[in-house]
Amino acid sequence: LKKRRLTLEEYVEGVKRGDRFVLSRAITLVESNLEADIQIAQGVLEQLLPFTGRAIRIGITGVPGVGKSTFIETFGQYLLQSGKKIAVLAIDPSSQKTKGSIMGDKTRMEALSNDPRAYIRPSSTGSTVGGVARKTREAMLLCEAAGFDTILIETVGVGQSEVAVKGMVDFFLLLMLAGAGDELQGIKKGIMEMADAIAITKADGKNLEKAKRAKVEYQNALHLFRRSASGWSPRVLTCSALEKTNLDKTWELICKYWEQMHEKGWIAQNRAQQNLYWMKETIQESLVNRFYTHPGIVTKLSEVEAKVASGHVPAYAAAKELLNIYTGNKE
Ligand code: GDP
Repeated sequence: LKKRRLTLEEYVEGVKRGDRFVLSRAITLVESNLEADIQIAQGVLEQLLPFTGRAIRIGITGVPGVGKSTFIETFGQYLLQSGKKIAVLAIDPSSQKTKGSIMGDKTRMEALSNDPRAYIRPSSTGSTVGGVARKTREAMLLCEAAGFDTILIETVGVGQSEVAVKGMVDFFLLLMLAGAGDELQGIKKGIMEMADAIAITKADGKNLEKAKRAKVEYQNALHLFRRSASGWSPRVLTCSALEKTNLDKTWELICKYWEQMHEKGWIAQNRAQQNLYWMKETIQESLVNRFYTHPGIVTKLSEVEAKVASGHVPAYAAAKELLNIYTGNKE
């Protein structure tokens, strides 16, 4: 079974059964860039679509070292104890550069990865954040169809990837460190604006008091932000993965958000907007892809680029010329 290609039905039935082996292969399929794979992958996704959407989708971000993997490891175990089935996915825009990326290192979440009720999948690779994110989103849908009811999507807080994660989750959790005086500098304001909650990590030992102070400061800072479209006012809490404190409070907060937002129809509305966003993203990505792989563009591109760089041809005219080659326009 391992060597041979699975049929579309085998993928669909296997994922629906919750067969982890088939699920992993299905995710590999959606990650593939081969035209033949894309065809089957889209067929599989289409058939599984009715079985998706039942999970709560949680995004988790924060700078390297903030404690993301430790948090997910302990929070994940807490969720398993409460009877949840969790899938952990990651978007790591650096993974294609560094190969054996930190996020791909499964041993980081050893207890979780050894638990049959949890499924952990490292970041897919790709040339663009958008491409990597699209694949992660499709992996998420497959995990939902396989019966996982809580999806955690982890990403490093470095910019573009948070926007992509925000665009596929219901709840966005920002992890932050209590720093001396530099509370608001480590992370961009835009990312704080996206957060539905901020958790100050490592609130233990000598750090505890500092964390409590940071909590107040962040709470005050959040008041200055524009109210989010959902109407939810973001909360700040402290937690320690080491001492396993406030994991329950974090979960309670997420549940509260879920109930409130579900009731007012926001979850469905948000997901509908997200679906449209991903449709547009996919169109843009495939248009750009097709453009740059078009034989006429491939032969002409570096020549035109050189002319633009040296100032011999205006950027606009050059772009027009290339687009005309692509569309076959003779104007
Ligand atoms: P990531 O890069 O965001 O995934 O961060 P890690 O989870 O790898 O954690 C970075 C460092 O912080 C590690 O040395 C952890 O042991 C430490 N750490 C993580 N969580 C806690 C915590 O709750 N309390 C304390 N004191 N240290 C922690």
